[in-house]
Amino acid sequence: MWLLIRLGVGAFLAMNIMLFSLLLYSGTFGPTDGGLVRAIHVLLWVFATPVLVILGGPFIRGAWQTARHGRATADTLISIGALAAYGYSALEVVRGGSAVYFDTVTMVLLLFTVGRYLEAVARSRAARSLRPMFAAEREQATVLVDGVEEQRPVRDVKPGIVVRVRPGERVPVDGVVVDGHSNCDEAVLTGEARPRPKSPGVSVFAGSINGMGQLLVRTTTTGTATRWGRISQLVRQSLERQSPLQRLVDKAAGVFVPVVLVLAGGTVWYWSGHGPFDQALMHGLAVLVVACPCALGLAAPLVTTLAISQVAGRGGVVRGGGVIEALAGIRGVAFDKTGTLTTGNVRMVGVVTEGVSEAELLQRAAALEQGSEHPLARGIVAAADVRKVVPETVPNVQARPGQGVVGGDGERLTAVGNTALMATLQWPIPPALAARARELEADAPRTAIYVGWAGRVRGLLLLDDTLRPEAGQVVTDIRELGLTTLLLSGDTPAMAESVAGALGFDAWQAALSPVGKSAALETWSQKQGPVAMVGDGLNDGPVLAAATVGVAVGGATDLARESADIVLPATGLVLLPWLVRLARRVRKIILSNLAWAFGYNVVALSLGAFGLLQPILAAGLMAGSSLVVVVNSLRLERLPGGVASAKPTVAVSYAR
Ligand code: ADP
Ligand code: MG
Repeated sequence: MWLLIRLGVGAFLAMNIMLFSLLLYSGTFGPTDGGLVRAIHVLLWVFATPVLVILGGPFIRGAWQTARHGRATADTLISIGALAAYGYSALEVVRGGSAVYFDTVTMVLLLFTVGRYLEAVARSRAARSLRPMFAAEREQATVLVDGVEEQRPVRDVKPGIVVRVRPGERVPVDGVVVDGHSNCDEAVLTGEARPRPKSPGVSVFAGSINGMGQLLVRTTTTGTATRWGRISQLVRQSLERQSPLQRLVDKAAGVFVPVVLVLAGGTVWYWSGHGPFDQALMHGLAVLVVACPCALGLAAPLVTTLAISQVAGRGGVVRGGGVIEALAGIRGVAFDKTGTLTTGNVRMVGVVTEGVSEAELLQRAAALEQGSEHPLARGIVAAADVRKVVPETVPNVQARPGQGVVGGDGERLTAVGNTALMATLQWPIPPALAARARELEADAPRTAIYVGWAGRVRGLLLLDDTLRPEAGQVVTDIRELGLTTLLLSGDTPAMAESVAGALGFDAWQAALSPVGKSAALETWSQKQGPVAMVGDGLNDGPVLAAATVGVAVGGATDLARESADIVLPATGLVLLPWLVRLARRVRKIILSNLAWAFGYNVVALSLGAFGLLQPILAAGLMAGSSLVVVVNSLRLERLPGGVASAKPTVAVSYAR
């Protein structure tokens, strides 16, 4: 906001300065108007001084701070250029000369401030979709101390303290319910829009929204130690991360500054030997003025932040400008299957049992799956609900990512999952059941999940997951972009093969554990080059982190979100080809911006050093080159395609 006010005031003054300067250049005034010209010069000086303070202040402060550490950045050049031009012009006014460059000073500062402002806007737009995350940190919690209720800032709530969470309130801490029944919407953490039931003994998480019942929660963790706190911290850090190309610009500036200073000194020295000293001084100053890398300062941040904010506008979060550049360089994309290419809206379409009743099988399965976040689990719980089967609570429920869930202990150990899980437990699958499963699974993408207890597999549940309608098109588009595609699934080979075939994948690998997934990805990227991975599940955390660019989609679990570089909204798969095109375009534009800005500076610098450039001409060229960079960057806005080819509105399930 403060930045905007500064920008407004600065722009207003700069406009005035430009106006009067143009008046002077246009030759309205003849030699007889000397007095008037002088008056205008003084007026320009008066206008330019606040601009130097208001707009130049931050740059000069930044330059000073880095200078104290013996370093130079773009700030250094801006400051030196602006101060030199200002000082020289002021000197000219005092001496009654005509070489006054206040317009240069103000334009340089204005353009750079605009650059910074655009960057800030893009950042805050990216952060807006994450607002619920940041909001919670300021929140108050209602705590109960000896039965007395009081309000306390969340950070003062210690573990063990009981917090009252009223219906509709945001849960302020991680903890365990001690009293009350309700449903909590944990979408902001898990992407799962359906509320999860909460009753005594069940954990609740900071950041989720309480439903209709009141809950008393015993705090276990607060603040940045909560899942929510870790996620929001990560996101915040990544928003502040600089892109590699931007770092390159700053590094270049570090080399550039001493070179320019030497060049300017050399110019003065040379010309003072060939003419009057103030002529030499002017040539030297022209070098300083033109060296100021206006366009350079805008080249990278403008484009990347424009891109980040475009993604944010479609409900996605990009963690830092470097991600976009990395995405531009990928050679292949690997996909997870369940929840990523499929909708994750799983329906149960069949039950086969061996010696037990269907109701018992379903009841035992649902009891375990209540504690699972997997899309298949939700299908099983929903089926139990429909059939009015009430699951019991089972102690010690554990997810086995990529395999299933187990729970209960000793003789009562129960397991729900695939062949791999049953093999690990050394529970034989009756041959008749296995044969029936293969038969039923032929109708892809259907999957058979085995249910067993007390050392034996007792039956299977047949679950039907549908492919996302856009999945085929996305895979085709990705391949048309020249990228290789790979399906990495924890599911059976038969299932992976049929899905890969239906969608036109280049290759597939199946029956992978989470570790197996990252190993497969690494092998693949060794021959493929940098690759992206798109996934959603608990089992995708490692592989998302291992990929050059990890993309979390669908109702991604918070683990997947935490490991990913890009988080897309629930229906964000469709954005993928667009994202790659966007990234490639960003890289192209940045490179052309840099080429332009560097080229301009080199040419102008040499002209200046040879005394061929008047400072005002230099300033005009400079403004022109910045304009080229800005216009060039704004071409990004016209990127064709986008989501227009598919559903235009994207529901953002984790932001509200
Ligand atoms: P994908 O990699 O295709 O997204 P996952 O790795 O999430 O699939 O799961 C692989 C397989 O593990 C599933 O097809 C299923 O057989 C089994 N599985 C995983 N989680 C569960 C669960 N909660 N309940 C039952 N089976 C599960
Ligand atoms: Mg998955």
